[in-house]
Amino acid sequence: MKVAAGWLLRCIDCGSMFDSDPAGYTCSRCNGLLEALKEGGSLTRGELYGRPAKGIWRFRALLPFGPDVRPVSLDEGGTPLIKAVNISRELRVRNLHVKNEGQNPTGSFKDRGMTVSVTRAVESGVRVLICASTGNTSASMSAYAARAGVTAAIIVPAGKVAAGKMVQATAFGAKIIRVDGNFDDALSMLLQTISGLPGFAGMNSVNPYRLEGQKSTAFEIYEQLGFSVPDYVVLPVGNAGNISAIWKGFKELRDFGITEKVPRMVGVQAVGASPIARAFWKGSETITPVDDPNTVASAIRIGKPASAKKALAALRESEGMALTVTDEEITAARSLLSSKEGIFVEPASAAPIAALREISGKLEKDAVVVCVCTGNGLKDQESIRIDIEDAPLVSDRSGLTDLLERLASRPLVPA
Ligand SMILES: [Zn+2]
Repeated sequence: MKVAAGWLLRCIDCGSMFDSDPAGYTCSRCNGLLEALKEGGSLTRGELYGRPAKGIWRFRALLPFGPDVRPVSLDEGGTPLIKAVNISRELRVRNLHVKNEGQNPTGSFKDRGMTVSVTRAVESGVRVLICASTGNTSASMSAYAARAGVTAAIIVPAGKVAAGKMVQATAFGAKIIRVDGNFDDALSMLLQTISGLPGFAGMNSVNPYRLEGQKSTAFEIYEQLGFSVPDYVVLPVGNAGNISAIWKGFKELRDFGITEKVPRMVGVQAVGASPIARAFWKGSETITPVDDPNTVASAIRIGKPASAKKALAALRESEGMALTVTDEEITAARSLLSSKEGIFVEPASAAPIAALREISGKLEKDAVVVCVCTGNGLKDQESIRIDIEDAPLVSDRSGLTDLLERLASRPLVPA
């Protein structure tokens, strides 16, 4: 199907240009990743931000669709940017903001990209949406498939997925298929299989339309900071599509003449699943896959990130940084964010907060830092210990009064 007027898909490896979607959404010459490009010109702030639509479809001036295409939407995007005043002193970052992506319709940032890739697939006449996913991608794709009235099929590694992770996909009516192997095997098999099958569309993040939706995070951050570009954007890196997308968003704001500067991108991985951080430290443009990735943060438990090349380019071009954090640091940061700020995120989303302890000493004193917290804490409840039997038990009113008086005697503003 033809790409929208004024847009092209470019291969980031060989530079080939396409004016229609190649099979499997990868380069038909070298199998490289594709990137959507809008041809030339400039935009005013009003042209990008002035539309009455809600969520990411406000930004239609920078989305690859003609004016008549009807979005498959659940009002994704438009998530809060919260100034983290209670933890900023402890983390030694004065201007710290949290972009709470857990507020999206299915509880993660994936919805921003899925509304765009599903709209494109439906526009192309696709009947089955398919992805390899053990979590947020499967939840998001299934919801938009339900909304569009098409079938959702999900490939998962056999024996590696907790049933609880598939609650949303199951509720949205997706078909689940198990394959022998790990997540990376499942994704490779899927990509090789569907490129020759008409009527199917792959919804993993190699699909360049996903990134077109996810770049809206950058447009929102700029607006929510009072039309100001932050100094640093810190986010978890798993399959690496989101850091690539948000960087693309900030670059487009600059290239279309709306802003002058761009932020430094800071990518955070778990120690046990850190192929991109390792490649970045070595100055390499390609990763060495991690065969058995391991971390409590399941959303970034990825050994062979599909968008690694784009992410490494984002880190390099933005003069950014890559960092790793341990599972203990992730768990502690998650608890800090929920108990001090009232923001409950899944473990992967706490990785950027954990990383701040390591880098805050290196940042300029008044640096404006945005942590992108990618998924809702309700996604991962198993890791929270609840000792309900240890809670005090009262049997009469005087016991309750006594207990409440002792609670009230604690300082009202915690130190
Ligand atoms: Zn190519």
